[in-house]
Amino acid sequence: KLFNELQELKGNIRVYCRVRPFLRGQGESNTVVEHIGDHGELVVLNPTKPGKEGLRKFRFNKVYSPASTQAEVFSDIRPLIRSVLDGYNVCIFAYGQTGSGKTYTMTGPDGASEEEWGVNYRALNDLFKISQSRKSNITYGVGVQMVEIYNEQVRDLLSGILSTAQENGLAVPDASMYPVTSTSDVLEFMSVGLQNRAVSSTALNERSSRSHSIVTVHVRGKDLKTGSTLYGNLHLVDLAGSERIDRSEVTGDRLKEAQHINKSLSALGDVIFSLASKSSHVPYRNSKLTQLLQSSLGGRAKTLMFVQLNPDIISYSESMSTLKFAERVS
Ligand code: ADP
Ligand code: MG
Repeated sequence: KLFNELQELKGNIRVYCRVRPFLRGQGESNTVVEHIGDHGELVVLNPTKPGKEGLRKFRFNKVYSPASTQAEVFSDIRPLIRSVLDGYNVCIFAYGQTGSGKTYTMTGPDGASEEEWGVNYRALNDLFKISQSRKSNITYGVGVQMVEIYNEQVRDLLSGILSTAQENGLAVPDASMYPVTSTSDVLEFMSVGLQNRAVSSTALNERSSRSHSIVTVHVRGKDLKTGSTLYGNLHLVDLAGSERIDRSEVTGDRLKEAQHINKSLSALGDVIFSLASKSSHVPYRNSKLTQLLQSSLGGRAKTLMFVQLNPDIISYSESMSTLKFAERVS
């Protein structure tokens, strides 16, 4: 309770940092991570300045070591997910350079076993299970949308499968809504969405790392005693890679993509920063991403940003810019 009140004062923004493990064949000794504390401390060492001078200390609400499991990460955010059933709007983002584990955290690895499921599957499953258990007091309807934003344009990833009309005015306009009534529905819509996303990435050269993907879960609960209705929304966002593209090396479409990504990630940073600092003006209109999520950023809404790090020294400068972005919004 006290924790919730404190969060309320902080504007309901949390930042969790997750350091991914080295993949098979990569050397563990090449890490920039010096220390991970139990209270959200992260110490990073600049590989070109070994010794005390090269150390930089950061502090977040939580830091996950490479050994953290998907289940551990989810157990920490479960209360946030549950609050959607009480009528809150929640946004969860994964931010970081390509290869830092954003998709791993949000979706899981390709062909994930249940143990490797990411936040998306676990959240939907949880929402669905709890809504079943409350059935005698509240009847819930759960609908899902999945879109990607590429070059400031929104594309429906669930088009062509059974959908229902939008129910509460907060739905993404012109994107299909898929009703979820069982775990197998969850698996089905996720696989359709991921397939639709994959089709474009082979055609357009790894486009998936240069687009934002958003799964939106709409919950409508009708209280059987009072007859009142509540609405909650959960947005699960796998952001485009945050790596800076060398402008001297790209032209044409790649340059345009890079500029759009840059613009939308800094617009997101600006929105979260102004919410965190209680500014009177929140600049939602500067990107498609922030426009789309406006109703779920600020006010009573709750925001969580996963800041993903690749610990390899090769990624040091990208990791530093990721950490600076995160420091600004936390
Ligand atoms: P991104 O979406 O940020 O580009 P990915 O999620 O695709 O990055 O991760 C890059 C690679 O690292 C993938 O092979 C992924 O399975 C692996 N990976 C990322 N995070 C973890 C983790 N916590 N545990 C195990 N493997 C991970
Ligand atoms: Mg990815």
